[in-house]
Amino acid sequence: MGRPQAKAKNHRHNGNLKNKRSLRLKRKTKDLDEIDRDLKEKPDELLNQEIDLDAPGFAQHYCLHCSKYFINQRALEDHFKTKVHKRRLKELQDDPYTQEEAEKAAGHGSFNKLPAKRKMETQPTKEEYNAGKRVKVEYYTQQELDSMKKKNRKSLNDSKLSVDDQEMKN
Ligand SMILES: [Zn+2]
Repeated sequence: MGRPQAKAKNHRHNGNLKNKRSLRLKRKTKDLDEIDRDLKEKPDELLNQEIDLDAPGFAQHYCLHCSKYFINQRALEDHFKTKVHKRRLKELQDDPYTQEEAEKAAGHGSFNKLPAKRKMETQPTKEEYNAGKRVKVEYYTQQELDSMKKKNRKSLNDSKLSVDDQEMKN
């Protein structure tokens, strides 16, 4: 697997103009709020970009969550399985706006306000998209969050039980 988006070296100390072209072509990576806005406001636009000869894969294989172009469908789908991508989905589960509010609230001695959790799924593949699947940004309801907590607690208890069982056998 290649590294289509390997970080460009910092050319700041390079006084000559040899690297001017590569500097101009290097895209600024988006920060999380910007990606958050993309997901909410223009996922379809970004998943159906016009051909851009300067972008990897001509801008036809874009990961919305990581704001990265890939050279082909295969590379994009491989990327969906990577830690980098999964970590990003996790980061995007926290609404950046409620996150900010929660931090402010904590600063005022109130820890009750937690950032709202969102369901973050990888964007649809080309086939899924053509079949009608779209990017959604939805919040977990309190009920769903509670049942997730219960499930976690239950599986924790279950694993404790199996340890006890093993100890009894020994
Ligand atoms: Zn990604």
